Amino acid sequence: DNAYYLNRQSHFESNARSYPRKFPISIKSAQGVWLTDVEGKSYLDCLAGAGTLALGHNHPNVVNAIKSVLDSQLPLHTLDLTTPLKDQFSQTVLNLLPGHPDEWRLQFCGPTGADANEAAFKLAKTVTGQATIISFTGGYHGMTNGTLSTTGNLGAKNPIQGLMPYVQFMPYPYSYRCPLGLGGELGAEALANLFERFLDDVESGVTKPAAVILEAIQGEGGVIPAPTSWLKRIREVTERLGIILILDEVQAGIGRSGQFFAFEESGIVPDMIVMSKAIGGGLPMSLVAYRSNLDVWQPGAHTGTFRGNQLAMATGLATLEMINQHGVLEHVNVVGNLLKSGLVKLQKKYACIGEVRGRGLMLGIEIVDTQGAADKLGSLPYAPELAVNLQKACFNLGLVAERGGRHGAVLRFLPPLIISHHEVEQVLQKLDQALMMVCQ
Ligand code: PMP
Repeated sequence: DNAYYLNRQSHFESNARSYPRKFPISIKSAQGVWLTDVEGKSYLDCLAGAGTLALGHNHPNVVNAIKSVLDSQLPLHTLDLTTPLKDQFSQTVLNLLPGHPDEWRLQFCGPTGADANEAAFKLAKTVTGQATIISFTGGYHGMTNGTLSTTGNLGAKNPIQGLMPYVQFMPYPYSYRCPLGLGGELGAEALANLFERFLDDVESGVTKPAAVILEAIQGEGGVIPAPTSWLKRIREVTERLGIILILDEVQAGIGRSGQFFAFEESGIVPDMIVMSKAIGGGLPMSLVAYRSNLDVWQPGAHTGTFRGNQLAMATGLATLEMINQHGVLEHVNVVGNLLKSGLVKLQKKYACIGEVRGRGLMLGIEIVDTQGAADKLGSLPYAPELAVNLQKACFNLGLVAERGGRHGAVLRFLPPLIISHHEVEQVLQKLDQALMMVCQ
């Protein structure tokens, strides 16, 4: 594995060892769904900055938004001083939230998703006076101390001592490998019962949590959509017990799932919604939208030099306007279904695809060991090495796809939301070729 990467290390962004260097190329130009490297080779980008580039690379509206800020007299940085552009951006975001805009407040944070999740934890702790955050197995919320503590991936945090205390994990409904040995709706219901029982126990004497954080579709955890029934139960229980429900929409939000927020599918309304990645239209931005009754911070209680970045608001606004006015969500549903049905066809052809999962343009295939013994649910063991080989084969064929999942055995597809039908076919053709090379 290493030899492969080392051979191709002529290009690197950083000489730090922590960079995985899965895609050892240097990009010279990019347009839409396509990347071109310095050697002139083209790649279909199904990573798109981990879903950040909703409109693809160098979308004219996004590029023009940056140009128009630069051509105007707008300052590049104002800290918290507002500008007409910032006002317009905030208003646009407020209008996209469930219910009436007056029911929500926006807290802009530092540039990353982790920054916004940290703010959400801090605000939940301030509001409730409680300490505990409940998170779910397989969840991903960032790499800073607090967010790493709530990330349900031991590999990422095992060697780190002194993480944020008062974090409790509960099992996420991963129906393909449900921890209770029950799949589908039955497994989800059992897990919701467990959650309710656990929180009721907490209520009767131990520690009441400040908040519950979850992703409606786990991304890094392996593209696992939470069943609607489970999400509804989590909302009911947290509401009844007065526990703040934080939906981390950093990856699944902003149209990726085929709805503006991934939680909308279930009809629930959380207390806090965390946004980053695509909300900045390709430039760094993050924010937390929280219900107005949680607006307890005194002025200055949560500051940050680079919150409310002017250029990111321009690119974010251009992205939101496209999503709002140009049928992007409908398109995501159509091409997402096309991609998903193509993946299901490939699953029928290649036994190493254990499950096809996801919604909209947040899709993944779990790669399994066809020689292994099936578990209680009939699912075959994870095949992370095969997934690595498949990812490499895709890359060599000009397809960039990310790997994720609790054991790194899920190949993930997060193309720009503007991917065309023809480009979806090209993704499927390349994947078919790669599977033929690796999985037969
Ligand atoms: N939450 C989710 C759901 C994410 O997918 C990510 C990033 N992959 C984060 C939080 C952290 O965002 P960032 O890397 O910008 O800190």
